[in-house]
Amino acid sequence: MLMLSKIGNQTTRTFPLFQLNKTLRKLSDSPSRLLSSSKQNPKREKQQEKKMGRRKNNQTSMSLNNAQHQATKICFNDDDDEENSNLDDSIVATEKAIAMDDVTMSDPNGSFVDGGDDDNTSADYYFDSYSHFGIHEEMLKDVVRTKTYQNVIFQNKFLFKDKIVLDVGAGTGILSLFCAKAGAAHVYAVECSHIANMAKEIVESNGYSNVITVLKGKIEEIELPVAKVDIIISEWMGYFLLFENMLNSVLYTRDKWLANDGIVLPDKASLYLTAIEDAEYKEDKIEFWNNVYGFDMTCIKKQAMGEPLVDTVDQNQIVTNCQLLKTMDISKMASGDTSFTVPFKLVAERDDYIHALVAYFDVSFTKCHKLMGFSTGPRSRATHWKQTVLYLEDVLTICQGEALTGSMTVAPNKKNPRDIDITIKYSLNGQRCVASRTQHYKMR
Ligand code: SAH
Repeated sequence: MLMLSKIGNQTTRTFPLFQLNKTLRKLSDSPSRLLSSSKQNPKREKQQEKKMGRRKNNQTSMSLNNAQHQATKICFNDDDDEENSNLDDSIVATEKAIAMDDVTMSDPNGSFVDGGDDDNTSADYYFDSYSHFGIHEEMLKDVVRTKTYQNVIFQNKFLFKDKIVLDVGAGTGILSLFCAKAGAAHVYAVECSHIANMAKEIVESNGYSNVITVLKGKIEEIELPVAKVDIIISEWMGYFLLFENMLNSVLYTRDKWLANDGIVLPDKASLYLTAIEDAEYKEDKIEFWNNVYGFDMTCIKKQAMGEPLVDTVDQNQIVTNCQLLKTMDISKMASGDTSFTVPFKLVAERDDYIHALVAYFDVSFTKCHKLMGFSTGPRSRATHWKQTVLYLEDVLTICQGEALTGSMTVAPNKKNPRDIDITIKYSLNGQRCVASRTQHYKMR
């Protein structure tokens, strides 16, 4: 049986709203990770949740909070849903441990009251999705992400002691608080969205007002009271690493304010590619459009093929090796380096079918006493970035040892540089399958 429900969480993918979101996002200055999370696969999500014990209907991230909730969303849910039946206790425990003690959002100015007096309407969130605490809650509860930053900072206090730190895109101020606690002389926490008001209050209520200065504004527009900083810290990574293009803001900051012997955290980011068997979900997400209640909707299928899907991939689906495509050195690279073409060679580790390529990234902090970092790959603990699935037009029949070769071209979209254009050229010259094709994708 199917159940009709109104859902405002990230397990929902609602096509009717997608165009609306897209249009509005073109106008928005800070596209959100959550907006992009409309590109998800509820079915696969459900399976993954069962596998990984992740919480379904994670109200934390989206309950009536983000840009997507303005219009009523409907989706179909299986009513045999066993949500919350297999929560991973350790994850829940960690989440509880890091959760802010039932903070009730309140703002003396009345702008962020959690209740009827909220000045911000949902329309505001369309235009500034980082303003709402929901997206920050999701990021804070991504323990792989947040704990890595915490460990980097707390286990490398020698880097921070008496240093001037600039936190680019401070959000709730969490990274600034870690740095202050680790002994930084002063931290400038720059945040362009309204969550900056909360960051100010959080800094005050935790007694760090003398160490942390929250500056509300775009990093490209604000003025700092110092000429140079010793450390730039930022959590700028988007889906497929580069979605949202916040990296550009970090590079701008580096060139403007970083002292000669200063450091950027993290300082390395790498993009990887692998190939997966994905018959079930390709059927569900792509072939679905062939016959919808007896009608041909293949025009939508073409669009769906061109949109990378942000989703969790089961490591057992991986058919080939995982190849490093590109490493970026954040301390040295130029903004133009986010456009590139790289070759790949994916060698099958077993006889199987290939339905999609999967991209993911890792980041590292090489200036630590010991190398630290995290991966968002399918073999690592899940993060909110998940992986990025690019469906292939062909179903490739590949034999163990055969290679799928080709190249991937990545570039910010010319009209909206926060979107990414991806082109994949691939060819397989195997015993059972010969195929060669170029496919274009757009992350938006
Ligand atoms: N540092 C926080 C938030 C990371 S999300 C944490 O780790 O939890 C990235 C944040 O950067 C968002 O809050 C977004 O509003 C902000 N941001 C993005 N581009 C920015 C820019 N150019 N100037 C200032 N803030 C920016």
